[in-house]
Amino acid sequence: MSASIGTLTDHWIDGARATGGNGSIEVVNPADGSVLAEVPRGGAAEIDAAVLAARQAFVSWSRVPVADRAAMVLRIREGIKARHEELARSITAEMGSPITFARSVQIGMPMATSKGVAALAEDFAWSEEIGNSLVVREPVGVVGAITPWNYPLHQVVAKVAPALVAGCTVVLKPSEIAPLTAGALAEIAADAGLPAGVFNVVHGTGPEAGEALAAHPGVDMVSFTGSVGAGRRVQEVAAGTIKRVALELGGKSANIVLDDADLTKAVKVGLGNCFINGGQTCTAWTRLLVPASLHDSVVEQLVAAAAKYTVGDPTDESVRIGPMSSAMQQERVEGYIARGVEEGAELAVGGPGMPDGLADGAYVRPTIFAGVRPDMTIAQEEIFGPVLSVLPYSDVDEAVSIANNTIYGLAGAVFAGSQERGIEVARRMRTGQVDVNGGAFNPLAPFGGYKQSGTGRELGRYGLEEFLEVKSIQL
Ligand code: NAD
Repeated sequence: MSASIGTLTDHWIDGARATGGNGSIEVVNPADGSVLAEVPRGGAAEIDAAVLAARQAFVSWSRVPVADRAAMVLRIREGIKARHEELARSITAEMGSPITFARSVQIGMPMATSKGVAALAEDFAWSEEIGNSLVVREPVGVVGAITPWNYPLHQVVAKVAPALVAGCTVVLKPSEIAPLTAGALAEIAADAGLPAGVFNVVHGTGPEAGEALAAHPGVDMVSFTGSVGAGRRVQEVAAGTIKRVALELGGKSANIVLDDADLTKAVKVGLGNCFINGGQTCTAWTRLLVPASLHDSVVEQLVAAAAKYTVGDPTDESVRIGPMSSAMQQERVEGYIARGVEEGAELAVGGPGMPDGLADGAYVRPTIFAGVRPDMTIAQEEIFGPVLSVLPYSDVDEAVSIANNTIYGLAGAVFAGSQERGIEVARRMRTGQVDVNGGAFNPLAPFGGYKQSGTGRELGRYGLEEFLEVKSIQL
């Protein structure tokens, strides 16, 4: 497997491979526990070198015409396209995403978002006049990007593409669990002609390389995607130098099914959005809220739908759920399944232990809990695995109140008999995005969270604005 994975597993600093740090980190295939590669465990010294390179490169990159910067992003996109299959296989190997999903979504999404942001460049309001002032938008400077393992390439491109269009330079600290496509992206960018120092990669752990990057006085902005706990720590260490911080954090999203909804669709789409990427998706609809009178029939339909989710070897094209991304994640999900049972939720599908026919690997059983109460741990905390909680409600006011009753507010859904009714409920949800009757993901629409799901927005015009400062020139 490793032979098909990109060749760059070192740091990438100032346009060249670099080693250094406190030893190395093994990249493990969660399907069988084999070691795929090793990356260096970088620390403060490697971050210093990368930030210096990015600061130097900023001087010229920020002055490259925006049309040329957008053209560069499109050339990098072409490079991703050319290495599509290799990148998909690499993601499947390092974090267990089923290969068909890796091809279509793990690689499809960065292709869509980079194309979208490059297209915005031309018509974007880079300057405007307000009275006697010329108001101009300028790149924020050096961006420190810190990314998670669940969509290893997409999370990186969602930051790097708009940052480059904006005129920023970047130091990326990718997830130490799934770092391989970051190295491939550095190679692709260099092959596309991106000048040295504009995009740098330093591997390492969060507390070492991640905190060094977030705290660095030479970094003007940190763009972080990951868990609430790590995001809080990033905000704390970044506060020392008053830099801009954008946080894309976790979720516990509610799917509210109204009494007049198309139940067949709500069940099919709802379960799909919960089990997506093995449930390791920040926007996963992990709470299904149904009218109490429909609870039992919805659960019956869910049980039938869940039977179609085959679990197994993620390289098998018929598999829909692979292993969890790591043994640690498997243990975490198992812990939540046990907690749900302990707290008295009804097991409708799945439960503790390995799926039938699998003896090794970081697998869990796709699980549906029925009759879940809003105060249960499985209704409050992000599990990040294929675990759905079904909660009955008595009326729409109660449904909205349950939906809003967690620390999170990232995504959500409403299934309703009419779009108007769906929008009415969507407006009452304290969350950054809501899909009505299965509305499709839009890579140009702003993406981000309310409450502890984060600060700031990624993607499209809003995502580009995150990487810009505003200057008023009085005339
Ligand atoms: P994580 O928080 O453990 O790690 C994310 C990144 O932060 C990694 O690169 C890690 O090394 C780094 N990190 C960890 N501790 C740090 C610290 N103290 N200082 C600086 N950096 C640190 O998250 P994960 O397990 O990789 O990913 C899963 C989490 O990410 C889930 O909570 C999920 O909801 C969230 N997520 C959010 C979004 C979004 O867009 N809102 C998208 C994907 C994932």
